[in-house]
Amino acid sequence: MKSRTDLKDKFIGTFIGLSLGDALGAPYEGGFIERFLWKFFSKTPTGKMRWTDDTQMSIDLAESILKKNTIDQNYLALKFASSYKWSRGYGPAASKVLKSISKGVSWKVANRQTYKEGSLGNGGAMRSPILALIYSQNHDLLAKEITKATQITHAHPQAIEGAVLVGKTVSLALNNIDTIRIINMVLKYSNTEIFKKKAELSLKWLEDNLDISPKEVSKNLGNGIKAADSCITAIYLGLRFRSKSFNELIKFTRKCGGDVDTLCSMSGSIWGAFNGFNNIPKELFDDLEDANRIKSLACNLYKTKIQILEKIN
Ligand SMILES: [Mg+2]
Repeated sequence: MKSRTDLKDKFIGTFIGLSLGDALGAPYEGGFIERFLWKFFSKTPTGKMRWTDDTQMSIDLAESILKKNTIDQNYLALKFASSYKWSRGYGPAASKVLKSISKGVSWKVANRQTYKEGSLGNGGAMRSPILALIYSQNHDLLAKEITKATQITHAHPQAIEGAVLVGKTVSLALNNIDTIRIINMVLKYSNTEIFKKKAELSLKWLEDNLDISPKEVSKNLGNGIKAADSCITAIYLGLRFRSKSFNELIKFTRKCGGDVDTLCSMSGSIWGAFNGFNNIPKELFDDLEDANRIKSLACNLYKTKIQILEKIN
């Protein structure tokens, strides 16, 4: 049974794992043009590693929960929009939604302006670990709150499904659940064939303890910006590397290519939920943009969580 101190360390580990994964993955994202462009934005004026939209939206979500004590979709939509900066590398669909919201369009309209069914990108999944911190005690509530936070920018059912699966994995990692049980739960909570098939393959790889190469991981589970092409990939990586070092996880995930910042961010948060902040290399934390601000947000989320748990008990 873990103590509250352990849980606090896991909260910080989840948020710092997410942000560090994002910043460490960003230079390896996409093709030649994306990598070349990022060289101009990769450092803050004080020389720290800069993070991207994954961390920005997670900070927005955390601050929004701390302010409102719930997911207030209208408030959160405006917060996302006001934080938008082109140089953070937002996806094309999310950029359009946030610019529309800034011009006064309701998120309920903006999120279906480009795609009728909504974006099926992984933008909701990359911030869902924050909700796992608060709502890990109740799966249905966690899924409901993740849905609310995701649909502001990513209304497609696959975007929501991926976000719920990533959030669910983080909540199970916080509770130190066995790897095979977690991937079985991910399979159980997968609704669509594409997620189910990838979860089934991950289960086989993890059960047989297979040494699958980064190329095979990308080819079979995906490495793209769609939720269905990245969420199970990140879940598999977070589970496979849970007993290895944070650096080993990042090194392998970078080699998977594609949407590397989000893959590193999601798998980094799962790793952090298992292993806590104390196991993340200090030199990486010291080199991260706004590291202490993120750590402090994680501590405040922990305080909120304790209040919720005390109310339940
Ligand atoms: Mg990003």
